[in-house]
Amino acid sequence: MAIDVRLLDHTSDPTRSLYVAYRTAYSALTPQTIVDRIASERITREQMQEFIEARLETGHASPLEHVWFEFAISGVSRAFSHQFVRHKIGISFEQQSQRYVAFKKGEFPYTVPETVKRAGFGEKMEEAFDRLGELYQEMIDAGVPAEDARFLIPNAANTNFKVVVNFLELLHICDLRLCTRAQWEFRQVASQMRAEIHRTFPELAKYIQPKCGDKRWGYCDESLADWQACPIGRKRPHKKQLFELYEAHRRGELAPLADADFKAIEEIGSSVATAGAAKPPAPNGRDTSPPVPQTRDEG
Ligand SMILES: Cc1cc2nc3c(=O)[nH]c(=O)nc-3n(C[C@H](O)[C@H](O)[C@H](O)COP(=O)(O)OP(=O)(O)OC[C@H]3O[C@@H](n4cnc5c(N)ncnc54)[C@H](O)[C@@H]3O)c2cc1C
Repeated sequence: MAIDVRLLDHTSDPTRSLYVAYRTAYSALTPQTIVDRIASERITREQMQEFIEARLETGHASPLEHVWFEFAISGVSRAFSHQFVRHKIGISFEQQSQRYVAFKKGEFPYTVPETVKRAGFGEKMEEAFDRLGELYQEMIDAGVPAEDARFLIPNAANTNFKVVVNFLELLHICDLRLCTRAQWEFRQVASQMRAEIHRTFPELAKYIQPKCGDKRWGYCDESLADWQACPIGRKRPHKKQLFELYEAHRRGELAPLADADFKAIEEIGSSVATAGAAKPPAPNGRDTSPPVPQTRDEG
């Protein structure tokens, strides 16, 4: 089964909801008055959007809890679902039961990962699942309850969810699960959630990024080896670089600007984009060493 994510429902007007929450915090006006001013268009949508974006920059995030999204998610494996339900704050799940839903004729839908197929084990895996399905059915026919026969069912078995998640938690989930360190199925589900929100609310979807995104932390906090292996790692600094820069700056060890630098500043004219621009970082895989901040010692 293919993974399928659909946005079923959401806070009716997330922009209004976010604005009223933020304004209530920062204004002498009552939320009732704020709502009335929005209704009478004394406050425009552009003003609301601008205000929300400015507040988000400050890190004031609790109003994001006021916006919720309802998703249907199907065709995911139990391997995925074990990870999904570890998220517990700001998200509510309903998952297909293996106690109350017995698989008919022992046939359970499942996922065979691409790596398994590429390694030539796809058919063997399917044969194993067929045998498990037959045994499952034998047990059901013999009166074993589905809740016990399911002990045969593998991690690959598919399951379905209906979930409600608030925007703050969705951002957090995507911080972790759009990261290339996350399991591929979770990355696909998170990507589809993002795409679904983007179709209706592009102004909100732009914040749904992996944690290294420009709207999130802007740097990678994973291990250096993981950062080096990440296909988008080169677009973001690694935390080690930030710490090194901070330490070097604190110790007063950053290389001072030289006369030549000031001369360049004076003479560079308007040609920064063509003549003076730094070369973009090498594509991932070529240069794997993190650029280290220049210190006095390096002359
Ligand atoms: C790449 C990756 C690998 C992982 N590997 C493993 C693994 O090998 N084994 C394993 O068991 N798990 C693993 N996990 C799961 C991970 O440890 C978390 O359980 C999971 O990501 C849920 O995230 P969360 O704790 O932020 O929960 P959420 O419910 O999403 O919590 C949101 C935030 O609320 C706060 N919060 C949540 N719960 C509490 C609490 N009890 N007390 C105080 N504050 C709280 C935290 O700030 C948290 O970040 C992995 C996750 C990832 C992304």
